[in-house]
Amino acid sequence: MNPRIADLPDAMFREPADASSTRPAGAESSGVVTRMIDAPDVVIVGSGIMSSTVAVMLKRLDPRLRIQMVEVAHELAREASDGWNNAGTGHAGVCEMSYTPSRDSDGRVPIGRALRIFEQFEHSKQFWGAMAATGVVGEPADFIHAVPHLCFVKGADDVDFLQARHAAMKEHHFFRDMHLTMGPAVIHNWAPLVMEGRAPGPAAATVGEGTEVNFGRLARRLCNWLAQQEHCGIVTGWKVTRLHRGDGQWQLELRCVSKGEVREQRARFVFVGAGGGSLALLQSTGLAEVAGLGGFPIGGQWLVCDEPSICARHQAKVYGATPPSSPSLGSGHLDVRHLDGRKQLLFGPFASWTTRFLKHSGSWTDLPGSIRLNNLTAMLQTAVHNRSLVRYLVTQGLQSIEDRVQALREYYPEARVEHWRLVQAGIRVQAIKRADRGAVYFGTEVFSPADRSLAALLGASPGASVSVNIALEVIRTCLPHLLSSSEGRNRMKEMIPTFDEDLTQPGNAALFERTSREAAERLRLDFLPHRVPDQRPVVTCEGSGASR
Ligand SMILES: Cc1cc2nc3c(=O)[nH]c(=O)nc-3n(C[C@H](O)[C@H](O)[C@H](O)COP(=O)(O)OP(=O)(O)OC[C@H]3O[C@@H](n4cnc5c(N)ncnc54)[C@H](O)[C@@H]3O)c2cc1C
Repeated sequence: MNPRIADLPDAMFREPADASSTRPAGAESSGVVTRMIDAPDVVIVGSGIMSSTVAVMLKRLDPRLRIQMVEVAHELAREASDGWNNAGTGHAGVCEMSYTPSRDSDGRVPIGRALRIFEQFEHSKQFWGAMAATGVVGEPADFIHAVPHLCFVKGADDVDFLQARHAAMKEHHFFRDMHLTMGPAVIHNWAPLVMEGRAPGPAAATVGEGTEVNFGRLARRLCNWLAQQEHCGIVTGWKVTRLHRGDGQWQLELRCVSKGEVREQRARFVFVGAGGGSLALLQSTGLAEVAGLGGFPIGGQWLVCDEPSICARHQAKVYGATPPSSPSLGSGHLDVRHLDGRKQLLFGPFASWTTRFLKHSGSWTDLPGSIRLNNLTAMLQTAVHNRSLVRYLVTQGLQSIEDRVQALREYYPEARVEHWRLVQAGIRVQAIKRADRGAVYFGTEVFSPADRSLAALLGASPGASVSVNIALEVIRTCLPHLLSSSEGRNRMKEMIPTFDEDLTQPGNAALFERTSREAAERLRLDFLPHRVPDQRPVVTCEGSGASR
């Protein structure tokens, strides 16, 4: 039986070997000098937001750690984390209806899930703020922007629901700054494109403080910092092809993508943050806990507007009610994005059917190749239980551009086909487990075997927004000794000041206010949702006369 990594005597703390033992293993990639290091303590597979966050958090907790990151692509963080491949929503539950989908029997909207995701996102902002303040990630405006989040609904039932949702959320200190209106003129102030050309009828909207994040750029900044640290190295263009447990360590087989050269790395702890590549690596371990695991890939697509005069008129992320046709996937949203150095307008994501697990380095054989005797039943159950989801994905993927623009008109009635083009988004691979009996859950899951010598991420949503919390969970579960000393806890507090507090508690409202303000200042976020350009003052609950 392998010892738990937490019990290994000082495994992660020993004096590192001479840094001169590092050797070059490739040219520059994305501005990062790549190198293979000797005798790493930790190998991190993948360079997306999850891997880069785990790697930096570990190195900040124990500066003596030797960390090797291995990325199959020639560029860093170009899969799901890349700005174009996800919606860039800093998920905090403010306006995403999927966190508050229904009412209790007493008519109230339960907000527990919204509180949880909000607090997790606070951890993310605190961490990124600390990284900005200590020069790790550079200028925050390069990767995060304050963008009002809006929820817009129409029709009496949805208006009624939004009012109930707002009433429940407003009571909590997290959502104190959220506003509700049923006034068309106010909604027009907040999001003109949403109201222009719209037929009269009951409508309502809430607005709250929100963010838009370029997770790919943030991940590359974190990687860049890691690559500059002593005893740490990143290699790109190397694929981890196999993980094997032996001699109390993990042995990793690495293959150079261009030359076919094979090398081996050993480490006591491995973090598999390979996104769609995680399942295949887990299957290669032969771990008993992996039996029965499978993957269900879902592709994504955006409508993108390149017309500057239209992009200039939208300053928000606008969510709507979840359509009954795709309850599990949520609805599309109309988002201002800051990508490739300019403002863009994106609508989506549209889901699509795919058998690839990775957008760039995947292949159509990924899904069939992931089927094993031990997961066959779970995969078949999933196929049977999710026929309507598969049908939905296929029909979504086959829609014409006119069909898609028609869907967009729910949010932007005057949208015209000639202003929009279709681009591919990233792929989410949802975990399929025997215990789920065919159900597909849309969450991110941390997998680790009994000896805690490895952690792997499966699934996607809400993913990037909670990457900091996931890194924290990985450390708590697999490397708890890093937090057992007061020095370790203090280091974590420098990164996430409230990591060991429950900010949802009323008694912590003042602490929340203080830490939230500090993180916003460090990230230079101007959280004033009512300050949508060219607007009159926002009226809260029209008719009440209150304004700010
Ligand atoms: C359409 C869409 C919209 C989304 N919207 C949001 C959103 O608005 N907000 C949000 O918070 N989240 C969102 N997500 C989820 C979010 O993008 C992911 O949860 C997050 O990016 C996952 O990060 P990751 O580091 O685990 O994976 P990735 O970014 O995919 O990184 C995995 C890396 O591992 C590498 N790799 C794979 N296999 C190997 C191997 N064998 N060897 C070496 N390297 C390997 C890959 O090349 C890749 O660089 C969205 C996802 C999609 C697809």
